[in-house]
Amino acid sequence: MAKIGFIGLGIMGKPMAKNLVKAGHSLIVHDLSEVAVSELVELGAEKGLSSKDLASKSKIIFTMLPNSPQVKEVILGRDGVIEGVEPGSIVVDMSSIAPLVSKEIYGILESKGVAMLDAPVSGGEPKAIEGTLAFMVGGPEKTFSEVKDLLEVMGKSVTFVGGIGSGNITKLANQIMVALNIAAMSEAMVLATKAGVDPEEVYKAIRGGLAGSTVLDAKIPLVLKGNFKPGFRIALHIKDLNNAIETAHAVGVPVPLTSQVMEIMQALKVEGKESEDHGGLIQFYEKLAHVVVREQ
Ligand code: NAD
Repeated sequence: MAKIGFIGLGIMGKPMAKNLVKAGHSLIVHDLSEVAVSELVELGAEKGLSSKDLASKSKIIFTMLPNSPQVKEVILGRDGVIEGVEPGSIVVDMSSIAPLVSKEIYGILESKGVAMLDAPVSGGEPKAIEGTLAFMVGGPEKTFSEVKDLLEVMGKSVTFVGGIGSGNITKLANQIMVALNIAAMSEAMVLATKAGVDPEEVYKAIRGGLAGSTVLDAKIPLVLKGNFKPGFRIALHIKDLNNAIETAHAVGVPVPLTSQVMEIMQALKVEGKESEDHGGLIQFYEKLAHVVVREQ
């Protein structure tokens, strides 16, 4: 029986693949990390020898990789999906990548009779573990209807947003809003703390009002504990903002605020903090103001 292929078992992919196994699906998995592969094999998944081998044994292939170059390599490269995949199969790329690259890969796969969706997610590791991610999906609607049930195993909200590339355009919009929210939260909390108000009380007072947000609820509890363990690495958010700025400029949209937050993230990278959670962005403001926002 054809299995479900799953390539990319990192912070996000591993719990997502585990949820498919737990729901009773038969998986074949592949990753550069043998440790991650072994964890899935222990749960009953088969180990793919390569992306090509995995593709030759799967009707549906999920990928959850860092960025455009890795997705291109895994799908189109040597020993890649394209060398093993059968016509009629479906590739669902759940990575957050440049929309133009999604379109390029789609065109090449389509010429081999293989369908593709770009289906990036929002929600981070906790929601990947819970199976409550938000999917934003682009591609042919018919293909979407064929995999929607599987996406619903990994996510609570699964939304079709348009043709191929639309999923990643939606994700870029999402990432702009998240980055700017974290920056606004950081600027405001550094001000409140240095002006002498307990940041925990500030959070409690404002979380139910208009300034309350999912970002605030997810990130402030971690900031207050000085916990910047990723989560979502600053390096990945830099990647998303790069894709956002490039895409925006290509369609003629200036993005001044995104560019400013990008420079803050670049400064943190120079400080060696690119592997920390993006909530760690507050450290940029803390350094400027000589104050630390922690529980008192
Ligand atoms: P990650 O770096 O933890 O995982 C990526 C995995 O891909 C790693 O296990 C790596 O070994 C594997 N990989 C890389 N190149 C490979 C190759 N050539 N062949 C096989 N495996 C390969 O990243 P992540 O945090 O899981 O993020 C994955 C994607 O999801 C990214 O595009 C990210 O932007 C997006 N995303 C992440 C989060 C989050 O909170 N971490 C949230 C939403 C979306």
